[in-house]
Amino acid sequence: MSIFAQRRARFLEQLGGVAAVIPAAPMVVHHADCEYPFRQNSDFWYLTGFDEPGAVALFLPHRDDARFVLFVEPKEPTAEVWTGVRWGVDGAVTTFGADLAHPLAELPQRLADYLKGAEGIAFRVGRHPQVEPLVLEAWGQQLDRAPRSGAAALGLVAPCPLLHAQRLRKGPEELERMREAARISAEAHELARQVTRPGLKERQVQAVIEQHFLEQGARGPAYGSIVAGGDNACVLHYTANSAELRDGDLVLIDAGCSLNDYYNGDITRTFPVGGRFSGEQRALYGLVLAAQEAAVAAVAPGQTAEGVHDAALRVLVEGLVELGLLAGDLDGLIDQGAYRHLYMHRTGHWLGLDVHDVGAYRLGEHHVELEPGMVLTVEPGLYVSDRLPVPEGQPAIDERWKGIGIRIEDDVAVTERGHENLTAAAAKAVSAMER
Ligand code: CA
Repeated sequence: MSIFAQRRARFLEQLGGVAAVIPAAPMVVHHADCEYPFRQNSDFWYLTGFDEPGAVALFLPHRDDARFVLFVEPKEPTAEVWTGVRWGVDGAVTTFGADLAHPLAELPQRLADYLKGAEGIAFRVGRHPQVEPLVLEAWGQQLDRAPRSGAAALGLVAPCPLLHAQRLRKGPEELERMREAARISAEAHELARQVTRPGLKERQVQAVIEQHFLEQGARGPAYGSIVAGGDNACVLHYTANSAELRDGDLVLIDAGCSLNDYYNGDITRTFPVGGRFSGEQRALYGLVLAAQEAAVAAVAPGQTAEGVHDAALRVLVEGLVELGLLAGDLDGLIDQGAYRHLYMHRTGHWLGLDVHDVGAYRLGEHHVELEPGMVLTVEPGLYVSDRLPVPEGQPAIDERWKGIGIRIEDDVAVTERGHENLTAAAAKAVSAMER
């Protein structure tokens, strides 16, 4: 719990005199009266470690007696017998360190009082339909009374810039958990490659991966696992996983686990279903691997996510020219985006409690510089199909290249002196992909 207390202390300090209202995630209906497994809101989790729906956290830097207040579902045996034990109001104080706690049902009548005296209110509008009207009403009441009370919160601000800048820089204990998520995810990819044979269904490989996640104590997959044989790999968010894996095709697997405390792994590997690359597959795989290694090597303090992307892009485009899939000079092709029918996504994203983790990539025109503790994915790819038109002036694609989709993705932490590849245990060398 002390980790969460440290995070709260830092957040409260950064808030200055502004009060923050951070709601927990609600349960989400899957179909009829069945719900998805609960997934806590990452901001709420980061500050509280409290893993129940139906809660709201207040951060009140203007109050000496109650800087951290939790509203929670109270203990209620008739409900708990159906949905599980709740920590309740007492648990919120004794176990989760709230200065004060109340039943959630009391939020409407208590919120305005707690916000009294704050210089502003930090609340993310548009995301919490149950809590938003209460925040707006409490603020409206303050404004109504301001002529007599002499004080009211003058602004509603977004908590995201402060909180997400904090979450973007991972502490040592977070990096330890991300190493664990990376370890389990990398092992699953190794297992997947061992079991893959022509004739297996994509979903059977998915089962091996996700079984390993669960066996290792993770909650399950961090996102819909992608097991994409052949041309399916050219669909970036393919999750049907219903086709049969065929000899002669590649299979692209993008999967990572989510731990009990929500830290995620996110790995992609691509290898030949039958154990041997064709000439075209080998050429493109070698190219993506060279681009990925160049981009990983670029990860260091002072570099930017944009710089990492550029490092991959230059290798990819240069190689595509050599293979005859692009024509022109390197800088011109990059400036015109003439490669986008073959490489249409960015080279990575922040990774943490969210798979596409929070934090700005740029502030205005300024690209955010990498700092120790930031974690990003590095995942260049090539996708050769007829789905996007070949840009004018670029060579038509010969049939022998089509149906090849390749991505290689690692999770990379920025360190003082460079980087640490958290997912290095998942093999990616050309020789390791064959058998
Ligand atoms: Ca991924």
